[in-house]
Amino acid sequence: MCDRPEDKPQTDDAAWEDLCHQCGECCFEKTINSRGKILTTAIPCRFLDIHTRRCRIYPDRFKHEEDCIKLTPENVAELDWLPEGCAYRNLSDK
Ligand code: SF4
Repeated sequence: MCDRPEDKPQTDDAAWEDLCHQCGECCFEKTINSRGKILTTAIPCRFLDIHTRRCRIYPDRFKHEEDCIKLTPENVAELDWLPEGCAYRNLSDK
């Protein structure tokens, strides 16, 4: 949970992970419309528990889902598909 959205990303992995709201909004499939805009669909990742909004295989997600991307302080500014309200997007928008 991000209690301090005004904070800059911290280098510590746990502190970085703690920024996530665990809303699960980033874990829905994306599509690109005819104008090239990335849209989020209503189709969740097969590993997302839609009730808890948690990944069911989080520690092993990169082994089982090749499209899953690790969010880092270095790449979040480039990931234009992160939903509005995402803690990491909000940090990179500053
Ligand atoms: S959209 Fe952002 S805040 Fe929500 S689960 Fe994904 S990474 Fe975390």
